[in-house]
Amino acid sequence: MSPIAGFHYHFYQPPREDPWTGMFNHEWSAWPYHDWNERIAAECYRAMVAVALPDEDGTTSLFEPLTQSSFDLGPTLHHWLDTYAPDVEHALQRQVRDVSHGASRVVMSAPLVHAIVPLATPIDQERLVQWGIDDFRARYAEEPVGMWLPETGVDVATLEVLARHGISYTVLMPTQAHGVRAPRGTWTKVTPQSIDTSKAYFVALPSGARMTVVFGHYDLSQRVAFGDLIADGNTLADTMANVLGHDDGVVLLVADGETYGHHHRFGDIGVAWATKMLQEKHHLSTTLGEWLATTEPTHEVQLHEVSAWSCAHGIERWRSACGCVTGEREGFDLNWRAPLRAALDWLRANAGAALDWELGHHVTSSDAALLDYGKVITGEWSPGDFVARHQSRDLNDDERSRVLEICEAHRNLMFSFTSCAWFFADPAEIETSIVLRYAALALELTRRTTGRDFESPFIERLELVRSAFYDVEGETLWRRACADFRTDEVQIAAGAAAEYAACGDFARTSRGTWAIEYRPGDGAEVRINLTNALTLRKFTFLTHISQGDNLSLHVDISDTTMWRKVELERLGADAVARVAVARLMGRGSSDVEGALSLLASDLLRRDATRDDEVTLLALASTPRYVTPVGEAAIRRALFAIAARDDVATDRSRLVALATAVGVADTFNLSEASGVNH
Ligand SMILES: [Zn+2]
Repeated sequence: MSPIAGFHYHFYQPPREDPWTGMFNHEWSAWPYHDWNERIAAECYRAMVAVALPDEDGTTSLFEPLTQSSFDLGPTLHHWLDTYAPDVEHALQRQVRDVSHGASRVVMSAPLVHAIVPLATPIDQERLVQWGIDDFRARYAEEPVGMWLPETGVDVATLEVLARHGISYTVLMPTQAHGVRAPRGTWTKVTPQSIDTSKAYFVALPSGARMTVVFGHYDLSQRVAFGDLIADGNTLADTMANVLGHDDGVVLLVADGETYGHHHRFGDIGVAWATKMLQEKHHLSTTLGEWLATTEPTHEVQLHEVSAWSCAHGIERWRSACGCVTGEREGFDLNWRAPLRAALDWLRANAGAALDWELGHHVTSSDAALLDYGKVITGEWSPGDFVARHQSRDLNDDERSRVLEICEAHRNLMFSFTSCAWFFADPAEIETSIVLRYAALALELTRRTTGRDFESPFIERLELVRSAFYDVEGETLWRRACADFRTDEVQIAAGAAAEYAACGDFARTSRGTWAIEYRPGDGAEVRINLTNALTLRKFTFLTHISQGDNLSLHVDISDTTMWRKVELERLGADAVARVAVARLMGRGSSDVEGALSLLASDLLRRDATRDDEVTLLALASTPRYVTPVGEAAIRRALFAIAARDDVATDRSRLVALATAVGVADTFNLSEASGVNH
């Protein structure tokens, strides 16, 4: 057994998709990028796939740090990469599948949702772990050996679940260890500074199973994440080699993967160079999984009863005002955490019971079906195959969709426990809003499938969830988090009809989780058939479109009982942007920046309308990256709107955009007037 010195990268971003559509919302704060994932992909993920390093002869060669290290990448981030950065996902999978002895030597799996596992119910713990393993298998075509726990949240019950699912090791931090002992020795109490992290340890579980634990090096991990140790790859490698105590030991630096390139500019080059030096200068192995494959831990560790790496009080950060916080502002308090946890626990228990009871009418076993639902989420099974395997009798189309809607309700309940919701100082920020949206969709699906409505009692339980910074609480907070985002099938159909009127054959046949069929009728009437790809639920609408002056558009829609009008801003920014590009630049065009420029020059010679404002916001929120040309056009359009005193539009909606492009002063409005955008 030879010593190793290397890195573990924990790559993760909170899920950012709109649960109603499966599409990703833009975030003005990430400007000029579409959202933070896009920005971090440019700065870190894309950089870490292949780093150009100088050679001795003056040339450069590409180094792939991920195949020379250990990493985990959260399934929700994988899902985003699949859709928006397929170059990163393809490169990563190709590299990792080529690793000798298999992907599991360098990649650790992770639960499907970034939830604090010890806080989940026993059955949710099983699902979190099983669905995470399903995700790993779908990506790498093999079973995982290690599993990273969100926030390294752990207790004995959590390790038992991992062991039952065939996981043999996890990575923790020294703050989580209580005591250690040598074979046949006595327990010695340890501190983060005193524990010898150059060994692998095992936890002896009550079931008789053993779980291997490798601890990150406390001091060096801190100095890489929060200090400047990453600034010089040579120094970093030398420092790591120096602290390597004995012949068969390990030095593992554990930090968020985003440390390299995003939090620390050029950190990707620093860590790649350090890895190369550890191998070539110090002749060390750098891959944790390879080392563990030949290492049998001899020493035993006892962990604190329950712990996580970013809370000094166990796992209180995700359920009480323990004092651990990020993003604090003057006057903040953390008293909202406990009622938020209690409200979601209450919803999970009550909606979950109603859903399970209903599901039991259609499948052989509710629990077995839901444990298998991970294979649908990860694409291994189609929704139809899944129902066919679990149904207790032949189900009709409506019943089949009902089964899938119940499973989706459970999935959304699980996502509502995403830990980021409790991590920051204020519950009006986007991380908490997102879990409320998952809860909102779970409530809708529960209502549809069971006839039980838990929304009012749930909102009552949010009463004590208060945002000190925005001075909103309970129902108002809930409404603001969800109101602008709720999308129903009527809006999806209306958006499709508008797109068809403007784009013709270039209109999309799928949008997020919806498949769309267009059936033109007489005159301006079009029949829209929608199928939800997750639940297979079908809807049909009759639509009538009339295109007005400039960019205005009137959409009338009927489900064959009554007609109703849908406002432009309810069609969805992506649909509005496609309509505008088609009308300004011609059918088939995808020139968003050209459309922005034409809109800006148009607004110099006529009064802006509410629809122009909606269109400007939609066009600005569409590109993955807005170039200086697009940004200049946005500024011109904003100046044109601001220059007119007679404009009746509500300018507050434009503030976030004006702030992003640096002309907030033009509107004489402060940045703080918006919430959740
Ligand atoms: Zn704490």
